[in-house]
Amino acid sequence: MSWLLFFRVFIVHCGLIDTLLGRREQQQQLVWLGVGGCRLSFSDTADAARDWGRIKRLSPAGVLYPESVDDIVSLVRTAGLSTSNLTVAAKGRGHSINGQAQAPEGIVIEMSTMRGIKVMPEGDADCPGPFVDAAGGELWIDVLKATLKEGLTPRSWTDYLYLSVGGTLSNAGISGQTFRYGPQINNVLQLEVVTGKGELVICSPSKQPELFFAVLGGLGQFGIITTARIVLESAPQQVRWIRAIYTDFQSFTRDQEMLISQPSTTETFDYVEGFVIINNDNPFNGWKSVPFAPEQLNRSMIPEDAGSVMYYIELTKGFDSIDIHAMEQKVEKMLAPLNYIQSLRFTTDVSYFQFLNRIHDVELSLSSHGLWDVPHPWLNLFIPRSSILEFNTKVFKQLINQDFSGPILVYPVNRDKWDNRASGVIPEESMFYLVAFLRNALPSSGPSLKSQMDDNSKILSMCHDISCKQYFPTYNNPAQWEQHFGSQWQNFVELKQTFDPHAILAPGQNIFQRNQILASPS
Ligand code: FAD
Repeated sequence: MSWLLFFRVFIVHCGLIDTLLGRREQQQQLVWLGVGGCRLSFSDTADAARDWGRIKRLSPAGVLYPESVDDIVSLVRTAGLSTSNLTVAAKGRGHSINGQAQAPEGIVIEMSTMRGIKVMPEGDADCPGPFVDAAGGELWIDVLKATLKEGLTPRSWTDYLYLSVGGTLSNAGISGQTFRYGPQINNVLQLEVVTGKGELVICSPSKQPELFFAVLGGLGQFGIITTARIVLESAPQQVRWIRAIYTDFQSFTRDQEMLISQPSTTETFDYVEGFVIINNDNPFNGWKSVPFAPEQLNRSMIPEDAGSVMYYIELTKGFDSIDIHAMEQKVEKMLAPLNYIQSLRFTTDVSYFQFLNRIHDVELSLSSHGLWDVPHPWLNLFIPRSSILEFNTKVFKQLINQDFSGPILVYPVNRDKWDNRASGVIPEESMFYLVAFLRNALPSSGPSLKSQMDDNSKILSMCHDISCKQYFPTYNNPAQWEQHFGSQWQNFVELKQTFDPHAILAPGQNIFQRNQILASPS
């Protein structure tokens, strides 16, 4: 099908009376389709060709700003009829690193126009507990604001909340709550999805479960999430927020593992994360980044025998003001067995909202110095527990030097909190670590983008030997993808054939090629 015919069909789908076709100059302008309906632009494509990574730049032919689910259905169906290798990518907020939400010469759907949040404090006949229905283009920060009005909150988070619901659910969505509640994809009751065939489907663990689990962690390959139903629980008013420094990696990981392995009947922290810090006074990843107020820590307090890198654990416990004494007793009891340096523990109390929204303050501060919109050659890995000590010796201690530019996260999660039926790939071991190298390539200082990417390649080649998995995986060819998925690959291919047989969706992931003939389901 030619481009001309494609737009004719699409416009018909959008219900436009005046066709607009064949007039090149109008295609260069903003084109309005439908009565008060979707908007398809061929000129303002620059944003859709950019993402947080600032590494890849693949220009789409156009950008769709849908006003309803029907607009998305129309576009996907029309793309399915096209013989011109047209692809479609849903874009949450483009916080991907490597072009995953881009669509070279295709159409990017700007999901930010798909809004809507409905909180159901009592649930409904199908779902008796509290939940929220959130549109796929909503930001988690707005979901939080809406649920807090009812004293409720989602249970599982990401560290940063200006991410879209559809975007994080296409990956996993992890943070310090994952050890307890699993990733965000484990806290979804139901999805409304537009499949790659242009079918609008409501799915859940009991209704069309194959699609439901395929989409969760499915890298956008099987459908576009238009609404997600997310479990809620009571929100605490406040949070006790603790950071404690270690010089010894073994003590640090042993304590983290102990904290996430408590039986469900035992009182636990609500959030457990950890960081590697450099033994210098860099405000972003040196020891100065640990205390809540600068005067709480100075160089003389750092032990003389500390090595080139140190570590800190980050914990929280929620409470309501009236219960502060009970909370303090519980927290002290939970901290008692830990082996951090006793003089290097820092504590503050903040509102629950302030804690969850903590990275936004960093964003504002970096933005004001022009340091937020820079290239981000981030690398996120899942490392099996059995290899984490080796990883510390070979990577943290050897690769991280004084001007390593960005935070490094290290925290364990429990595999049994991940639903095996979802699409994401994780290590086999019962416990594994998230290790995130969140580096920035600054314009005037620090290592260059190229040298940071070379470091990533070195880390990845070492990972090859220890069965680690990439989170937000990036590969260049099908053989690498097959290796990434391992025994899950055949199933992934079969699901693709079932739900997006022409490989229209999420081409920026670079897994399948449009109209590629896929192996038949057995
Ligand atoms: P995009 O980057 O726009 O899209 C990601 C992928 O999902 C693309 O393939 C896209 O096509 C697809 N997609 C988008 N919307 C939909 C939809 N509605 N339906 C189907 N597919 C869709 N992640 C964590 O897990 N934990 C963290 O703590 C965390 N912290 C972060 C902090 C910062 C500052 C940043 C920039 C990112 C962080 N992330 C974290 C990563 C984040 O989860 C990913 O960037 C993710 O891609 C979500 O971003 P997005 O909503 O902008 O999605």
